[in-house]
Amino acid sequence: MLHHSPITNQFLFRTESGVEFWIKRLDLVHPEVSGNKFFKLKYNLEEAKIKGYDTILTFGGAYSNHIYSTAKAVKAIGMKSIGIIRGDELKVLNPTLQAAKESGMQLKFISREDYRRKNEEKFIKNLKDRFQGFYLIPEGGTNALAIHGTQEILQYSDAKFSHIACSIGTGGTFAGLALSIHPDQKLLGVSSLKGNFIHQEIKSLLEASQKDFVGDYEILDSFHFGGYAKHTPELIKFIHDFYQKYQVTLDPVYTGKTAFAILDLIEKGYFKAKSKILMIHTGGLQGNLGFTERTGINLPPSG
Ligand SMILES: *Cc1c(COP(=O)(O)O)cnc(C)c1O
Repeated sequence: MLHHSPITNQFLFRTESGVEFWIKRLDLVHPEVSGNKFFKLKYNLEEAKIKGYDTILTFGGAYSNHIYSTAKAVKAIGMKSIGIIRGDELKVLNPTLQAAKESGMQLKFISREDYRRKNEEKFIKNLKDRFQGFYLIPEGGTNALAIHGTQEILQYSDAKFSHIACSIGTGGTFAGLALSIHPDQKLLGVSSLKGNFIHQEIKSLLEASQKDFVGDYEILDSFHFGGYAKHTPELIKFIHDFYQKYQVTLDPVYTGKTAFAILDLIEKGYFKAKSKILMIHTGGLQGNLGFTERTGINLPPSG
């Protein structure tokens, strides 16, 4: 069983019109399995154990928070993990993959073409022939059990917020939040990926959950800063300014874009007076090391 530390909401500021901005520090839930990934993995790992598996197999890019968290979580509960990584093996592993390997994850690198086939039956059958008996978790970790887990992110006392905000990658976290907000709350999701496919993706995830969803939601798809894992000097400056003001470190892939979007909306008067906004800090700070190594751009300290 994975256990987490108490979850805290940190107050950041109040505007003249009484709009409050708070941040839920999921980046602090676990020393190693940070952020939303803790909640996405939790029931998957329980299910794997119940079904008698001792190995988890999953997929990800070379800097993936999901790969990192899976390696750490699986080690913490005494199971084994295999990570199928997109791209050629690097001569020197980046910090994400180095940490995954040190946690005992067996890394297998595959070409981008093969990686695209990862959800095909034939491809999975080949994996099954090669690595016997594993519990499979999809790329990014989103499946029904992940969405079950992310419904536990919000707590009873969070009912006082008028708006909940989070980052969107595959949408599993957003879907869990959408299924657990109150009827008078609105959920805002900021997509880190370019393109409007995410609207349909979220719709499908919610429909597949077969649970009624009661609040209101909106997906913002214009704060991707060029696309997934893309960044601009404006975004980097924003992350530094945010740290200076609030001593909260954000990452350039997800939480930096989300905080930027929400502050932009506050500035433009999107929220009515006395709105109380809770942004979910979904973690991901392990990626900052690799980001700096890759780009030479420094980021605030990541804990
Ligand atoms: C994985 C991740 C996300 C995206 O979560 P989804 O459930 O895939 O939408 C958001 N923020 C951080 C920091 C992440 O690591």
